[in-house]
Amino acid sequence: MTEYRVTEYLVIDLGSERWKCERCGADLGPARANYKEGCLVAERDPTEIHPPRVEGPYTFAPDPQWCRLLEFYCPGCLALVEVEYLPPGHPITHDIEIDIDALKASADTRARGGQA
Ligand SMILES: [Zn+2]
Repeated sequence: MTEYRVTEYLVIDLGSERWKCERCGADLGPARANYKEGCLVAERDPTEIHPPRVEGPYTFAPDPQWCRLLEFYCPGCLALVEVEYLPPGHPITHDIEIDIDALKASADTRARGGQA
């Protein structure tokens, strides 16, 4: 089977049905699940990334009481795979859900020289 590139840093290996890092090949978990569960996660204070621009109550910096910044890293090469802004307590989002069966059928059709 073949690999299918999904984003700059994410690949699906259709044979094993696993997420993999495009850069180093590290396994990031089952392709039918959320790749973020296979990543290292860092929770950052959003004011570190977006420091206050003015003094006063409204600084243009995200309020850490209302926003958290999650960074997802490849456990093999530490590439930054994704960044997510969420309210505190919100579960991580499942932002990429591929129909693996349809992708496999399409890859099989292409391998036989047909239209996908
Ligand atoms: Zn990697």
